[in-house]
Amino acid sequence: MKEKKEKLTTASGIPYSRNEDSMTVGPRGPVLLQDYVLHEKMAHFNRERIPERVVHAKGTGAFGTFTVAHDITKYTRAKLFNKKGKECPVFIRFSTVGGEKGSADTERDPRGFAMKFYTEEGNWDLVGNNTPVFFIKDPKKFGDFIHTQKRNPKTNLKDATMFWDFFSLNPESMHQVMILFSDRGTPFSYRNMNGYGSHTFSMINARNERVWVKFHVKTKQGIKNFTGPEADEMKGKDPDWAQGDLVTSIEKGDFPKWSFNIQVMTDEQAKKFKWNPFDLTKIWPHSEYPLIEVGEIELNKIPENYFRDVEQAAFAPAHVVDGIGYSYDKMLQGRLLSYPDAHRHRLGPNYELIPVNRPLSGVNNFQRDGYMRVDDNGGDHPNYFPNSFDDIEADPAYKEPLLELESGVADWYDRNENDDDHFTQPGNLFRKVMSEKNRENTINNLISHMKGISGSKRDEIIQRQLGYFYKTDKELADKVAKGLNFKFTPPAG
Ligand code: NDP
Repeated sequence: MKEKKEKLTTASGIPYSRNEDSMTVGPRGPVLLQDYVLHEKMAHFNRERIPERVVHAKGTGAFGTFTVAHDITKYTRAKLFNKKGKECPVFIRFSTVGGEKGSADTERDPRGFAMKFYTEEGNWDLVGNNTPVFFIKDPKKFGDFIHTQKRNPKTNLKDATMFWDFFSLNPESMHQVMILFSDRGTPFSYRNMNGYGSHTFSMINARNERVWVKFHVKTKQGIKNFTGPEADEMKGKDPDWAQGDLVTSIEKGDFPKWSFNIQVMTDEQAKKFKWNPFDLTKIWPHSEYPLIEVGEIELNKIPENYFRDVEQAAFAPAHVVDGIGYSYDKMLQGRLLSYPDAHRHRLGPNYELIPVNRPLSGVNNFQRDGYMRVDDNGGDHPNYFPNSFDDIEADPAYKEPLLELESGVADWYDRNENDDDHFTQPGNLFRKVMSEKNRENTINNLISHMKGISGSKRDEIIQRQLGYFYKTDKELADKVAKGLNFKFTPPAG
């Protein structure tokens, strides 16, 4: 037998002799309880799966670099942006949203575009999507919305009736519905799509002045999409198509790149903006708020181990670094709570100790103990604050400027002024941005999906949804109604 240098051991490091044969009484006899190695192998195998993400379960990721090309220090004091040519390591995870971990990559679905910047002052997570808007604008609706994208509780099937029932009862979804059913709802690959921070965030400069910002990460590979039928075909041919595309291109040295841009709005402009600038169902028109190029992201390394780095990656919009801040966006505020909460459930309270989540810049705090505390747990340093033994202190220089709030009255506000214009922006997208071919594909994609609506509420749901299409664009409503062979009555007014 060939001599091997490394000895096979148990998890407690004990070398052992037999890895393929269980200990039995005689060659055909029953297995002895004392074959601990057998138990250890089976027991660990039984525990290999951690809970899959409730959303964004199917994904892939890569490491790379963000490089600053332009000076934006007049907007932000964030150290990662403070010098042209400066590089910051990044990790990006792409995903679909609604499907399970084994679902097909080419499903019609938004794509997650979650970015982690390992800056010199901690990790900044920009947890984006490939769309600049979202279906809802209040986090209280999120769980309900996602249920409609999952499986029917009785049939365990994806269900077009629940899908359209929800959308047709939530007119603010119209903008994202149009993007989802355009060809951008089925990107050719993760390399051929844009990423958007989607929420409004803020930037704070060295003079402690705040502006509102949106982040746009634009593909340098060019936008490329599947048509609906092509995407459906690929689901059967290669359900892991997008993962394969990313791995193959990076492994052969064809590194995908994106330009990194911001839109900036002052507080005065925000007060006068014709829509609510903190509403996640709205964009800021480029003509009024042009993109300002900041730098470039390149992805150049596939993790050596998928579970270690991709499955255990945990992104949280709450992780912003000094010079970048939150905004009033209700969806963002909901996500500040729910993302770390999801990670604590899925990975445990010490999820930020996992290598892919660990800041390169170091951590100083008084958190101790808890499940899977596998570092030195603060060693013999004090575990309380303040104390007389170490010199760790909170630095007032990191204080944000004061934030003035408009109203002091607490209520469950369901609409702000102008927030009920759900149709102008999707109408602009349909009429002004989409090509003739893209309009035609969008209409066909809508018809083919809405044909799945069934049951006693079918007509009611279709009528309501066509009403939103009508307010977006009359031609859109007419053509979808015709494709569904539905007698549509346009809404009054
Ligand atoms: P612009 O003509 O300046 O920009 C249009 C934008 O739409 C571009 O960013 C383009 O991305 C993107 N786009 C093109 N086709 C689609 C599609 N099928 N689905 C989603 N996005 C698409 O117009 P405005 O800034 O005035 O915006 C007009 C409409 O364009 C908006 O109402 C919105 O629906 C959509 N849009 C606007 C964005 C913004 O931040 N202003 C961002 C994305 C969409 P690219 O340049 O990469 O091709």
